Amino acid sequence: MDDDITIKENISKLKEWIAESENIVFFGGAGVSTESGIPDFRSVDGLYNQKWSYPPETILSHSFFEANPAEYYRFHREKLVIEGVKPNVTHLRLAELEQEGKLKAVVTQNIDGLHQAAGSKNVLELHGSILRAYCSKCGKPASADLINYGTDLPRCECGGVLRPDIVLYEEPLDESIMRKSINAIRNADIMIVGGTSLNVYPAAGLINYYRGSKLVLINRSETPYDSYADLTIHTNLGKVFSAI
Ligand code: ZN
Repeated sequence: MDDDITIKENISKLKEWIAESENIVFFGGAGVSTESGIPDFRSVDGLYNQKWSYPPETILSHSFFEANPAEYYRFHREKLVIEGVKPNVTHLRLAELEQEGKLKAVVTQNIDGLHQAAGSKNVLELHGSILRAYCSKCGKPASADLINYGTDLPRCECGGVLRPDIVLYEEPLDESIMRKSINAIRNADIMIVGGTSLNVYPAAGLINYYRGSKLVLINRSETPYDSYADLTIHTNLGKVFSAI
């Protein structure tokens, strides 16, 4: 984290840029939702090791889901579905900026639907959403309640196993979402990147499409991309978004 004076100066700078812009794109990672109480599933706690026989990246893979859907759903319902979460100040301020005509798109790696819950309309969900489900056999959409709650293996009328509309490991990203994200980033005059250490594909790649001169990185710790940024703010997202 930076010292308070530096943080304050950087936030003022960002505020000036936002005041002059009508074409902002926000790109967010897990850190956007952790401030709503959604843990990053990659964070390994002691409890985790006792309860699961596989790392999260294995359980959340296409081949694991196919081979062992019951164990997948035990993990999904316990680690991905968090009761009572609400959008935080970052989600809410981003939704306002969109309503004010300043923000054109939110590109997110999160699968929790909190940007839409805050009122954002143009949300590009790179990894899908656990608030949508469909049949892995016939493709028919189904209620997300069936996959997120209960203890049974959720099934379609056709007998196929239901699955969340998220991108599992080993699966390709949705091409149309990628295309829309690239377009939004290419045309943006401000790109704000927050809550990601930029290590997870495709985050780093998407930044390369930005052509402007106002790339803003907000993250508690330094990232390998800090030197590419025109402004870096090392603090909590909530602190920044409650001040802009
Ligand atoms: Zn079906």
